[in-house]
Amino acid sequence: MNDYDRGVIRSLLLKKGFEEVVKPEESNFVIYLTCAVRKHAEQRALGRIRSEGNGKVKVVAGCLARMYGEKLIKEGMADIVIGPDSYRNLPFLLQRHIREGLPEIDIENRLDSYEDILPIFRENNFSRYITIMRGCNNFCSYCIVPYVRGSERFKPQDSILKEVRKAVEEGVVEVFLLGQNVLAYRDKEIGFTQLLEKVSQIKGLRRVGFLTSHPKDMSDELIEKLLRIENLVRYFHIPLQSGSERILKKMNRRYTPEYYLEIIESIRKRFKDPFISTDIIVGFPGETEEDFKETIEMVKRIEFDFAYMFAYSERPFTKACKMGPKVDEKTKKERLSYLIEIQNTITRKKVRSLLGKTEKVLSFGRAKRGGTLTKSLNNRIVVVEEDIEPKREVFIKIEKINGWTPIGRLKWE
Ligand code: SAH
Ligand code: SF4
Repeated sequence: MNDYDRGVIRSLLLKKGFEEVVKPEESNFVIYLTCAVRKHAEQRALGRIRSEGNGKVKVVAGCLARMYGEKLIKEGMADIVIGPDSYRNLPFLLQRHIREGLPEIDIENRLDSYEDILPIFRENNFSRYITIMRGCNNFCSYCIVPYVRGSERFKPQDSILKEVRKAVEEGVVEVFLLGQNVLAYRDKEIGFTQLLEKVSQIKGLRRVGFLTSHPKDMSDELIEKLLRIENLVRYFHIPLQSGSERILKKMNRRYTPEYYLEIIESIRKRFKDPFISTDIIVGFPGETEEDFKETIEMVKRIEFDFAYMFAYSERPFTKACKMGPKVDEKTKKERLSYLIEIQNTITRKKVRSLLGKTEKVLSFGRAKRGGTLTKSLNNRIVVVEEDIEPKREVFIKIEKINGWTPIGRLKWE
């Protein structure tokens, strides 16, 4: 999300005559696009803001701007504080700050979708994330996102299609539609799958994918519709969060472990080799050994291709702050390490099962240690030993596994 917002901010500032420099030391001002989703992200951002950029105008943008507001100015950490819905105002605030030298703050909640702004990206013309919605209405009880990024709003389909067409003109061959829960998308008469279909038909676009999907909005019917999209990347990121029905309820996730299992089964029944990844939180308030065991059982049963795993981190504003009993830090750490160990074994097993398989891959760059970086139809990175020109689709055979990366050779027949 923040990476995409970098493109939005760049577009807004370049239009108003600001220049982007390559080396940080050549700049007059620095913009920090911050994340507040977990304490760790927050601490990393605050650490950098405190220690860097002395003598430059410091702009703190993004979620921490909304979370801390004026405090950042009072504590001397920022000259300008600007929330995720206020980027249009940044050129004006910067100009005024340069003129008058006073601190500036704008953290209003405007429900802006930046629909008329074509973001500018400098790097990578192979694959791009396209934000199709902002904010979130789900209020999972542990999550700060609805408070700092505001309510859910969708970009109109015409502006999304225009943006993808422009990306294709710039050489992009793969896009991922991005949002906190893209399945909720709607614009006039169309919903998410129709939008996806329209995007997938744009000339010159080879592959289209999406993330993230909330399990409560997944259904057999939706999965059936996805099958119609021929160039769909078969990559499904579906955060489970917990395997315990009780904890899922406290998290306000609005699905049961059984429902989640049905979705996974439905995807695996219909798609060939789907890549399924997930997010899991351990140590949510009230999580018992029994609840944690249920998460482990789910992970073992489903065998995700990959998982992002986190220890619960208490966030201001959220309902979970007031829930108890808290799980102590030591137990959280132990549970997280155990879960990671289990999932890593599964991840390795999954990669190894690819040995000997033939895959259609899309090339996109040079691998560090020689050969070509490619992506399979389900978004897995595969290194191919031969040099292949970028953006070509070829068939390869997987012959080795290096760490977690499959290594293949061009298949000539
Ligand atoms: N909208 C996405 C998730 C966005 S946040 C979704 O609902 O799937 C990305 C991930 O961060 C979440 O899936 C969750 O696993 C994790 N996360 C969010 N808040 C957290 C918290 N307070 N503590 C630990 N992990 C958290
Ligand atoms: Fe947070 Fe839940 Fe919204 Fe995801 S769906 S951003 S976890 S509130």
